[in-house]
Amino acid sequence: MQNWTATVHGEHAEQEVLRVERLLELNHVEYTHVEEENPDTVRVELTPPGGGDPIVVNGFRPGELTAHLKLNTYTAQDSYDLVVIGSGPAGMSAALNAKTLFGWSTLIVEDNAPGGSAGTALNPINNYLGIPAGTRALDLAHTWMGQINAAGVEWLPGYRATGITRTEDPRKTGTKDSSLYPVHRITARKTHGEESVTLHAGMVLITAGLKPNRLGCAGEEQYLGRGVYYGTLPTDIARARKEGVIGIVGAGDTASVAAILLAEEKAKDPARKGEVVMFIRGKFGKDTVPANVDRVRECVDRHLITLHEGSEVFRCTGNDKKLTGVEFGPTGHPERGRPLDLSALFVLTGGVADTQWLDGIGLQIVTDEDVRQRRYRKAGAVITGGTDNRLGSLTSTGVDAVFAAGDVREGAVRRISAAVGEGSAASLDMNAYLVNGGTWREAIKEDTPLHRYYEATAPRA
Ligand SMILES: Cc1cc2nc3c(=O)[nH]c(=O)nc-3n(C[C@H](O)[C@H](O)[C@H](O)COP(=O)(O)OP(=O)(O)OC[C@H]3O[C@@H](n4cnc5c(N)ncnc54)[C@H](O)[C@@H]3O)c2cc1C
Repeated sequence: MQNWTATVHGEHAEQEVLRVERLLELNHVEYTHVEEENPDTVRVELTPPGGGDPIVVNGFRPGELTAHLKLNTYTAQDSYDLVVIGSGPAGMSAALNAKTLFGWSTLIVEDNAPGGSAGTALNPINNYLGIPAGTRALDLAHTWMGQINAAGVEWLPGYRATGITRTEDPRKTGTKDSSLYPVHRITARKTHGEESVTLHAGMVLITAGLKPNRLGCAGEEQYLGRGVYYGTLPTDIARARKEGVIGIVGAGDTASVAAILLAEEKAKDPARKGEVVMFIRGKFGKDTVPANVDRVRECVDRHLITLHEGSEVFRCTGNDKKLTGVEFGPTGHPERGRPLDLSALFVLTGGVADTQWLDGIGLQIVTDEDVRQRRYRKAGAVITGGTDNRLGSLTSTGVDAVFAAGDVREGAVRRISAAVGEGSAASLDMNAYLVNGGTWREAIKEDTPLHRYYEATAPRA
């Protein structure tokens, strides 16, 4: 897929420039930077795929930038057959199947950038059958985006879904565009701004993944995106590497692999600045696969990684522009905190399903009490047929025409390949819902291609 390219003009360390560059990378746009001493502004020249006159965007305007980049941006249809919340592998896979197999008009709402968690990760994928080992997750996400665009799925990038309600009488709404009567009203608000839109959909698929865990310490919010990160986006890593020591919080496989990759680069080129420091609340090794434990220990022996076991970060410190260090010390003892200079801190401690906004449509969500009673594993996760056999198929939620797939689901495997599989299963579950649910005649508008299709394929009594 040919891509947009960009030139970013502005002073390199300026906050606006950093934001623009992250956004471009998240949207798979190759960019070069032109250093200009003009601290108040950033100017982006976007060149379309195949060349042509560049489009100039002044300032950090995420909506304007992403609107230019995507082929199939939101066309404000009256209603869609399917609205997918979240464009990680689960959402993209479901949307691709929904559009290409069944022809449903499909819109994806995405808060951040296409690709989901995978799209923000430096690590190579080595466990996905058929994908060459070493493929970057970011590049995989780029391929998905091309497939989605080619299929004709629409995007609403830079918007966060904030609520879903049911339409009282879908047949009376009079909306066009979709073959299904719109049963759901979805509100979505601009990620960076106040503007909001209302969408209508016949079916809704929730593939909102996990929200990264935060440290919850002083200074974290202040330096978010300016030294404190929750993914390992190559732009952020490259910038941090030029400047000094990189801190990683966490001891799971994601944190360990990030530390190993950075340490190995340093080993190849000792002139590279900085080392890697890992902050681990308990003992290292119990949350990591043995092969990664051995590789981290080997890097420690070669002085490429420093492990601070039994320690936590109490404060992020910096100048006004960016993070310059942390205070850390023995777990639970902030009074014994000591300073350490760092160029960046990557917080890689997993995440939780952020589903509070789904209150009100009757989904079953795992509570803290469920976890205490060991009924379910992850508070906030959506319970589906995969964990409760009364709800039927893997991705059905028990709520009419609402489905959930991927990491947001209780019992999810939390792997890219699994999310891709669940997305595809969701499209088949939704099709089965229309065919077998006994409701399809009420759900589908007459005289539409979808109606003719289901009339031909529905089981006869
Ligand atoms: C740093 C990192 C490294 C990883 N490495 C690997 C690996 O090597 N191999 C592997 O198999 N797996 C890996 N994983 C796990 C894998 O990425 C996830 O299991 C997978 O991405 C889950 O897919 P998903 O579609 O369910 O959710 P996600 O990929 O998390 O996507 C969810 C999307 O929904 C969006 N969203 C959330 N809420 C809203 C809302 N209200 N409105 C609109 N949009 C919303 C988010 O912005 C996000 O883009 C890694 C994860 C991380 C974080």
